[in-house]
Amino acid sequence: MNTETAAYLGLGSNIGARESSLAEAVRRLNALEGVRVTDASPLYETDPVGYTDQPPFLNMVCRIVTAYSPEALLEATLGIERELGRTRDVRWGPRTIDIDILLYGDATIETPDLTVPHPRLAERSFVLVPLMDVLREEERDWRPGFRERVVDGAGVRIWNSSSWRAAFGHSES
Ligand code: ADP
Ligand code: MG
Repeated sequence: MNTETAAYLGLGSNIGARESSLAEAVRRLNALEGVRVTDASPLYETDPVGYTDQPPFLNMVCRIVTAYSPEALLEATLGIERELGRTRDVRWGPRTIDIDILLYGDATIETPDLTVPHPRLAERSFVLVPLMDVLREEERDWRPGFRERVVDGAGVRIWNSSSWRAAFGHSES
């Protein structure tokens, strides 16, 4: 019986050592008992959306396979945000690390604490561009419209990092 579920997480950082915060978050995700990181996108530097008076972000998406329920996964990702020094002041404001659950299998979840697929997923190039780098062909039907969606990559620029490529460029599947 396979009780593991593939999921996609969106990560972002726009304060401090952005690249090492993202690398550390991916490392900590993979170190969780119930999570295996199978793919990591390249990094993108992106203009802030919503609250625009803040520094640019580095964004990425990773694919994981997890034994956790959606609620347990959220608890774990919020824990990693806290460990990496995230404070919550301004909504959509600056953060050392943000981890969002974009997709959890083909599940639709609507609870006070958790909405999956992530509600702003389809409008955000900074999520869609890296998601398209790692989203598996057979998992594209999880969310209607992905196949047809034309990604507007405005404000999203590839961030060339040899250390990132060395660490995550050849992740196993
Ligand atoms: P945002 O990522 O939209 O800027 P926050 O990171 O501050 O917002 O998240 C605030 C809350 O959003 C979390 O405490 C969590 O309960 C809720 N939330 C709802 N759906 C999701 C999701 N799919 N992934 C992560 N958090 C979510
Ligand atoms: Mg978040």
